[in-house]
Amino acid sequence: MPATKPTPIPAVKKQSKPPRGSLAPDRIAAILKALDEAYPNAECALTHNSPWELLVATILSAQCTDVRVNIVTPELLRRFPTPQKMAKATLPQLETLIRTTGFFRNKAKSIQGAARKIVADFNGQVPQTLAELITIPGAARKTANVVLGVCFNKAEGIVVDTHVLRIARRLGLAKGETPQRVEQELMQIIAQRRWIDFSHQIIHHGRQICLARKPKCNRCNLEQLCTSKDKTFQS
Ligand code: SF4
Repeated sequence: MPATKPTPIPAVKKQSKPPRGSLAPDRIAAILKALDEAYPNAECALTHNSPWELLVATILSAQCTDVRVNIVTPELLRRFPTPQKMAKATLPQLETLIRTTGFFRNKAKSIQGAARKIVADFNGQVPQTLAELITIPGAARKTANVVLGVCFNKAEGIVVDTHVLRIARRLGLAKGETPQRVEQELMQIIAQRRWIDFSHQIIHHGRQICLARKPKCNRCNLEQLCTSKDKTFQS
């Protein structure tokens, strides 16, 4: 009997991995998964008991550590616990209380102005929309997004602070050089339901691992997804 010709086995199409720097949905999903694994309970580190307190703390946190802000806010908010009371504070009173947070003259003007605006235009309550929040002195998009996300569970944008700006660029998720540009880029590629957690997770990552100088890449669970020129370790 003539030998039967073996049936050729169809070639298995190799699943191609997305290039490391790409914005392919599966790469972004892998980054989000790794962040969930590393920081499952990431939360805002500024101590607060109300939207007003978080608004004040976030204004004070510019160019200052959260640890320092958390030292300053208890006495400040004990003296001026509401927008109504803060609106009547003098600038020298506020400056003395917040001096150690840096840029204290501008910050005193901002928190006094914020209190007065909230009393005058928002019936003494911190508003719950981005459009309203950004009309408050000292509250640009970053501050507004922090308050909306943490206090009202609303994601109208993504918090882009110095950590998010740096790490989004290192991971190739954004190319922009300003927080505004990077926020727009991130909003295009990350599902809105992830916006609040994503910022908290990246901020924790920036504080613990992906430091501005000498990132601890040998301890980073995103290392295989990262092609940053700043890397200090390559697996
Ligand atoms: S590998 Fe290094 S540079 Fe990349 S995200 Fe991790 S710590 Fe940052």
